[in-house]
Amino acid sequence: MSEAKAKQAIDKAAQAQRQATRKALAKGADAPKVLELARQTLVRAERVIAQVLALMPAPRPIACTAGCPYCCHVRVTVAAPELFLIADYLRRSWGAQARGLLKRRLANIVSATRNRPEEIRNALRLPCALLDGEGRCSIHSVRPLSCRAVVSVDVQACRVAHARRMQGAVPQHAYQALAADGIGYALYAGLADRGYPIENIDLAEGLLRVIEDEGALARWLAQEPIFG
Ligand code: SF4
Repeated sequence: MSEAKAKQAIDKAAQAQRQATRKALAKGADAPKVLELARQTLVRAERVIAQVLALMPAPRPIACTAGCPYCCHVRVTVAAPELFLIADYLRRSWGAQARGLLKRRLANIVSATRNRPEEIRNALRLPCALLDGEGRCSIHSVRPLSCRAVVSVDVQACRVAHARRMQGAVPQHAYQALAADGIGYALYAGLADRGYPIENIDLAEGLLRVIEDEGALARWLAQEPIFG
């Protein structure tokens, strides 16, 4: 019963997400609408995750805590509106020097990983460029949906996977992933409804591109293949 309700909640939120995406990207869409769409996407994801976790609690307590960075060493992919929101957040809240250092970290990751298979990239175990010096996500409030989908119920398994260069299973709560991914797929569906390509953009590569190019959002809205 609870499981059916949880699935219904995800379906309902996904339908609302697809509609909201179509609306935000209707004729006359502009940068503020795209950023607001991305903000509301994250709000909706958090809301449905909370709903679903109340209906289907994790089998064991969730082990993720601030400053626990083990899973932040694998490749993360994002949709374009998520990237623009992160870049906007960085422009508003980080100084020029911090952004310059971030660009260098992103460029290093891109040069070490571009065109390399997923398993090699994971084996490199490079920390996400957005981790701060204490192992915390420095953009926590605007972190991508794919980061929100991952939730461990066994920190020891996370340690072991990290020590084995991101190999090995980590027990997770599947419903957290279903809820976050449901919103992510609906975002992509809405983008496709409006003629935008479905792109799983590499976080490091995409972020480097949009923070180096202030006109990236306008060109993306004009449907130029900026992530091609
Ligand atoms: S964006 Fe934040 S949560 Fe996601 S991998 Fe990077 S540091 Fe971790």
